[in-house]
Amino acid sequence: LEVRNNMLHCSASMSLLLAASTVNAVRLGGAPTMRRAVMPQMVATSPQVQPDAISAEAPLHVLIAGAGVGGLALANQLELSNSHVTYTVLERTNEFRKFGGPIQLASNAMESLKNLDAELYSEIEARATWTGNRTNGIKDGIRNEWYAKFDLESPAKSRGMPYTCVVERPELQEIMMRRTSKHIRTASGVESYRDNADGSITAVLDGGAEVHGDVLIGADGIWSNVRASMTDTPSRGDESGVSYSGYTVFAGELNYGGGDPECGYKVYIGPGQYFVITDIGRGRYQWYAFLARPADSEASEEKPEGMGPYLRNLFEGWSPEIHDIVGVTKESEIEQRDLYD
Ligand SMILES: Cc1cc2nc3c(=O)[nH]c(=O)nc-3n(C[C@H](O)[C@H](O)[C@H](O)COP(=O)(O)OP(=O)(O)OC[C@H]3O[C@@H](n4cnc5c(N)ncnc54)[C@H](O)[C@@H]3O)c2cc1C
Repeated sequence: LEVRNNMLHCSASMSLLLAASTVNAVRLGGAPTMRRAVMPQMVATSPQVQPDAISAEAPLHVLIAGAGVGGLALANQLELSNSHVTYTVLERTNEFRKFGGPIQLASNAMESLKNLDAELYSEIEARATWTGNRTNGIKDGIRNEWYAKFDLESPAKSRGMPYTCVVERPELQEIMMRRTSKHIRTASGVESYRDNADGSITAVLDGGAEVHGDVLIGADGIWSNVRASMTDTPSRGDESGVSYSGYTVFAGELNYGGGDPECGYKVYIGPGQYFVITDIGRGRYQWYAFLARPADSEASEEKPEGMGPYLRNLFEGWSPEIHDIVGVTKESEIEQRDLYD
């Protein structure tokens, strides 16, 4: 979490935390005309300044850059907060094409969503495939024996928290947009922002248009322009703060009947590479093959027979479960991407 003036840059998990707390934002700056505004957690950063209340006459307007899971979690909380807070979500993409793939929602994420809103939570719960009450853990990729099983069940149970589950990202997105879509502006990428003398903030969009607000939340993902603007660094490259993880990943998603119903996810580890198989529900499975490679290795490593045979060759001698699932995955069901932190 980084705070500078009236700017907040946060990760998805931070947004869930912010969203899960009661939003009761205050203005800082003493004079009632000052528009410098913060979330409650930030009050402690300026103890010398007296907050003044937000009212129906002078609502707080929050700009949220990015309609990913973080931005949408906060938008939902603002929508449900019943406070004098208005908001606009500025999303770069032109159209809300459903972004694919499952996302694992850990117990604490589910608990945050539950605290955010019972109805929203029950909509997500209805789409969930529970994995946190099943066997999950790490296996030796070659000997095919368990190194460690993760007990996700008893910590959740003892705290009365939901189990870890998996949800399809498009379904999560659709649920999180149900109450907020009227406040989402697409084709509105935030290029930078400007602090104004009266304490308000101006988001400058790609193409030069401007949007004014009291607070700007940077939920614009790993290549954040808001972060770049706040820290005066580029959004990509060596000085951006984003670094290559050292791994490229191949992800496959398919209908699969050969999985172990007792198992949520398995991670097969070995030298320089590892492989994950996850039950994502309704008869579908996802697998990931992580390979230690330099960045942008995709173009330089030829795969004349396709990605499936290429991976089976690299994982020769590893668990037959890996070969079985990769063997029945179509080329069109596999995607490769480099991973950045
Ligand atoms: C392969 C893979 C698997 C993963 N699996 C899991 C998992 O199982 N469980 C889990 O918890 N996490 C998982 N993660 C991590 C998770 O996807 C991220 O932590 C999460 O998506 C971050 O959410 P976010 O809202 O901060 O950013 P994002 O989801 O990246 O959303 C950012 C949004 O901002 C928009 N945007 C970008 N730039 C701008 C701009 N300048 N102006 C306006 N809008 C902009 C984007 O279009 C996007 O809609 C995985 C990540 C990867 C890569």
